[in-house]
Amino acid sequence: MGESRKEEGHIVMVPFTAHGHLIPFLALARQIHERTNLTITIATTPLNIQYLHSAISSSSPNTNNIHLAELSFNSTQLGLPPNIENTEKLPLPHIIKLFHASKSLQTPLRSLVSQITQQEGHPPLCIISDVFLGWVSNVAQSFGTNNISFTTCGAYGTLAYISMWSNLPHRKVDSENFWVPGFPQNYTFHVSQLHKHIREADGTDVWSRFFIPQIALSIKSNGWICNTVEEIEPLGLKLLRNYLQLPVWTVGPLQPPPSHNSSKNHAGKESGISLEACIEWLDSKDQSSVLYICFGSQNTISATQMMALAEGLEESQKPFIWVIRPPFGFDMNGEFMEKWLPKGFEKKIMESKKGLLVHKWGPQLEILSHKSISAFISHCGWNSVLESLSQGVPIIGWPLAAEQAYNVKMLVEEMGVSLELTRGVDSVVSKENVREVIEVVMDQEQGKGKEMKDKASHVAVHLREAIVEKGEQKGSSVKSLDDFVTTILSFKAI
Ligand code: UDP
Repeated sequence: MGESRKEEGHIVMVPFTAHGHLIPFLALARQIHERTNLTITIATTPLNIQYLHSAISSSSPNTNNIHLAELSFNSTQLGLPPNIENTEKLPLPHIIKLFHASKSLQTPLRSLVSQITQQEGHPPLCIISDVFLGWVSNVAQSFGTNNISFTTCGAYGTLAYISMWSNLPHRKVDSENFWVPGFPQNYTFHVSQLHKHIREADGTDVWSRFFIPQIALSIKSNGWICNTVEEIEPLGLKLLRNYLQLPVWTVGPLQPPPSHNSSKNHAGKESGISLEACIEWLDSKDQSSVLYICFGSQNTISATQMMALAEGLEESQKPFIWVIRPPFGFDMNGEFMEKWLPKGFEKKIMESKKGLLVHKWGPQLEILSHKSISAFISHCGWNSVLESLSQGVPIIGWPLAAEQAYNVKMLVEEMGVSLELTRGVDSVVSKENVREVIEVVMDQEQGKGKEMKDKASHVAVHLREAIVEKGEQKGSSVKSLDDFVTTILSFKAI
């Protein structure tokens, strides 16, 4: 994005400590940095600072005014394993501990803001905090500054998520289908779209005790930033604005610049394959012929589902790249064992060059940008959704946690760019289901597959145009970011 403004001031940013949050926070920091002279400090725990350092050094060099500040964090004292500060190494049932532990950052954040206030003679212009870290609004308030909540998700998924937690609507009806406050009256969700933690929540459990108060605090902030684009989510944005009664700035798609490092990617993570080897493999395939499979940075499917997916892939005969991790219930970062796949599967597909198994972490952005990619089996984390749609790649949804199932509902019902293969880790999925869905979505010459491809390509145009700036001509996200900057600068005058 284009010309820089001359005003000065300081913005502090506090992300939740998961890659799907750190990456868009850094991307937002870069956007603000490119448009202003403002100093930006991203404050997080020491190990996450290391990721951010690595992510910054493996990509854009021009980040002079983006500072990283360590907030001390003692994982063992907070009931977490040693050196655990990010969701990536935590099995799902323990993630709630990290959420609760994030509240301990309040004291070091207060010290940081106090230090900035003393050095600069006034508090930062605002503190931009993750929607999950509602407690930051108390810090902002006590320094007489403003708090902006940043949702790294889309508008529709965010609204469904915050309203579900705030209202627990599924607990108030006997039916499996229910209405969610904030959505039109005739609109229903199904309990199977809820992760077990919220399905069983009653307002007093450990998940409710974190999410309900944190979301309530974020809803009282001065405004929200959403990693989406005005044109792709008209319904979600209208409903979210109506629900929050706050300004919502749409600044998406917030994506990191391509990596300059062949083995480390934008998240500062070591890839299971070199970028060159991956691209060489993709180059050997026909245009729009390859299926990409990945379940994000912190989710995996069950062992039986993994087996069915592998068998379905074999039957479909489509070339594929699969970022693979040990199944649900095992250490996701541990060694992958052959027994989790059909006998001889890896050897067979490697020899026939039919498939590429990438262990642990793949260069997703670069894979999705390759012309050989036809479709993406995804858990539908919002970053993955934006990365796929930015390339016009239709999505086969397999939501596993968080707001992912709500994202899929929107992708299927509102955007028409997806089919949902199954939901969660407990569902029974057969190789026939897998093959059928792959065939429909990857047949892009006709029928449903063509419709989805056309719609995905259309969304890609909106995503591209939103961040274009040519002289007076500005895309919607550029205008929105301009408006956000103007608004926070006006805070100074308050
Ligand atoms: N990612 C990646 N390689 C992987 C897995 C994930 O580059 O093997 C990146 C992906 O490109 C995206 C982020 O990690 O930017 C995952 O975010 P998302 O919101 O899709 O899912 P989450 O991990 O938060 O569930």
